[in-house]
Amino acid sequence: MIKENLENIRATLPKSVTLVAVSKTKPVSDLQEAYDAGQRIFGENHALEMRDKYEVLPKDIRWHFIGHLQTNKIKYIIPFVTLIHSIDSANLLEAVNKEAAKHNRVVDCLLQFHIAQEETKFGLDIEEAKQLLDSEAFKSMKNVCICGVMGMATFTDDKAEIRKEFKHLKAIFDTLKTEYFANQTRFNEISMGMSDDYLIAVEEGTTLVRVGSKIFGARNYNV
Ligand SMILES: *Cc1c(COP(=O)(O)O)cnc(C)c1O
Repeated sequence: MIKENLENIRATLPKSVTLVAVSKTKPVSDLQEAYDAGQRIFGENHALEMRDKYEVLPKDIRWHFIGHLQTNKIKYIIPFVTLIHSIDSANLLEAVNKEAAKHNRVVDCLLQFHIAQEETKFGLDIEEAKQLLDSEAFKSMKNVCICGVMGMATFTDDKAEIRKEFKHLKAIFDTLKTEYFANQTRFNEISMGMSDDYLIAVEEGTTLVRVGSKIFGARNYNV
């Protein structure tokens, strides 16, 4: 099942788009099944859950953190995390930088933007991002690399609304690229699109799609 789902999704993705298999809440056996089907990038949204899975699974897996990250949990993932999608404040970025320095690492990060209509979704707006990028504190950070942007669309069936929000995130990416990262080839990732809207995200220029339930089935939060 998982293998077939992965194959079906991969068949719809252009080469320029990387699939992050969102395995949050799923047992290690499911991740192993995806691994055996060739999947190497997994996304998790709880630090301890990700750490526990990292410890028992093959070490060539690349772990992406995609959820709201509390500063007191950073230490659990810094030794091994490949990409943090969800930098939603200057404080968090500063804390990640500090922890990464202890491990002598440069940790790749995306700035998360609030593009949805819902109040509850985390993320920066463009002004906050510019403030962060203009700050002396940011300029002195040696242990983080900003590689692009991430966002979550509104939870809705309205495809036009979702497309509009993805266009908005792409425009934010283009603005930041031009104004701050013109000479930095590492700033090249856009993380948008989930199980129900990843094909729209592909059309709107995403480079990373974060797909969970379409690979692993519906999540049960009550177990
Ligand atoms: C859970 C989650 C996903 C995957 O959601 P699905 O609808 O199951 O594909 C993607 N991104 C983030 C940030 C998530 O928390």
